[in-house]
Amino acid sequence: MTTYEHEWGTKILRCFLPIILLGADDLSIRMSMQFDEVTKMNEVFQEKLQVYDITIIGGGPSGLFGAFYAGMRQMSTKIIDAQPQLGGQLIALYPEKFIYDMPGFPKIRASELVQQMVEQAMQFNPTVCLNERVIGLERLDEKLFKLTTDKNEHYTKTVLICAGIGAFTPRRLGKPEVERFEGKGVFYTVTDINAFEGKRVLIVGGGDSAVDWALTLEPIAQKVTLIHRRDQFRAHEHSVEQLMHSSVEVHLFHELETLNGNEFPHEAVIYHNKTGEKKVIAVDAVILALGFATDIGQMKNWGLEMDGNHIKVDQRMMTNIPGVFAAGDIATYIGKVKLIATGVAEAATAVNQAKVFIDPTARLQPAFSSTVGIPSQV
Ligand SMILES: Cc1cc2nc3c(=O)[nH]c(=O)nc-3n(C[C@H](O)[C@H](O)[C@H](O)COP(=O)(O)OP(=O)(O)OC[C@H]3O[C@@H](n4cnc5c(N)ncnc54)[C@H](O)[C@@H]3O)c2cc1C
Repeated sequence: MTTYEHEWGTKILRCFLPIILLGADDLSIRMSMQFDEVTKMNEVFQEKLQVYDITIIGGGPSGLFGAFYAGMRQMSTKIIDAQPQLGGQLIALYPEKFIYDMPGFPKIRASELVQQMVEQAMQFNPTVCLNERVIGLERLDEKLFKLTTDKNEHYTKTVLICAGIGAFTPRRLGKPEVERFEGKGVFYTVTDINAFEGKRVLIVGGGDSAVDWALTLEPIAQKVTLIHRRDQFRAHEHSVEQLMHSSVEVHLFHELETLNGNEFPHEAVIYHNKTGEKKVIAVDAVILALGFATDIGQMKNWGLEMDGNHIKVDQRMMTNIPGVFAAGDIATYIGKVKLIATGVAEAATAVNQAKVFIDPTARLQPAFSSTVGIPSQV
């Protein structure tokens, strides 16, 4: 190939890559090129860019069930999540809590439900990108989107946004002398209650998480102390009553000043925020239950029709951008109810619609799983 041909080819590819990728039949540019050349380039770029049928932003329950259903419809699937693990709010905010309103489960721990949902979705081996936050969505062509994350670029024919309440970051105390123990005795959430067995645990906070964890750890830990900066709790009244009748040592109007220790903390210095009086407590672990800040980030600049922090969708779960769908907590419409059960149903609708969006000859109504079983992987 001459330099001229190479440059010409590069220019064509740059300008018409989206068209070539989509194999648009009726464009004059395509007629002037040899069919096999186009096919070859298409293959090379499909392979290089890996254009997925569907890319799901968010690996919470809605995203996981969406990935499962995309597998059932034999669509190549990618999940991108800002968190280090799949499971959304269930893992980040309440992994140890029981859920009572999942069909078929009279009672199931949030972390266990996530485990089951991950297993169900992973039967089709979707590509999973964790610790990656989507910051940009760009429509390159009718059926080609570019998603930009803080690490990478992803190409996809359709997008399903299951971003829930946005990406979460734990609220910190803003004290470096405490934060230096993060992951080594200082935690923002309880992912495994057994890790606290026989430990002296200090919990900071007055919300549902703080009180629930205090009560959950009471029978397991050697000792649980809870400090709260006010005398009013945000937690549920019933839980607060249980707390006050438990063996948990509660200090009201108290805050954490610092933690002492080398590699791990061994004592906490707390102070009364009205009198300034200090106390030293022996600790092995500290749970800072100060809540999570959620942020939908750049999503408002993606050209989506929004209602506050929610994305408006129609009955197909499609947004105002054709080919971009939304489901779960982030999606809104008249009569919306935010539950895991409704989110997963919305994800199933969105995926079946995405299938037809890509291939209008495909059936919208999927075959019943009880009839076809689990189809082979894509
Ligand atoms: C304490 C508590 C208890 C609850 N109990 C129940 C209950 O008993 N029953 C019930 O039905 N519901 C319950 N819920 C509500 C339920 O958890 C939510 O309805 C559900 O999690 C919504 O699922 P989702 O997949 O839509 O979103 P989420 O679970 O919020 O998951 C969204 C995911 O998207 C990711 N994300 C967001 N933005 C980006 C981005 N830009 N890039 C990449 N990733 C991104 C997030 O990291 C997150 O992992 C409870 C909620 C809380 C807080």
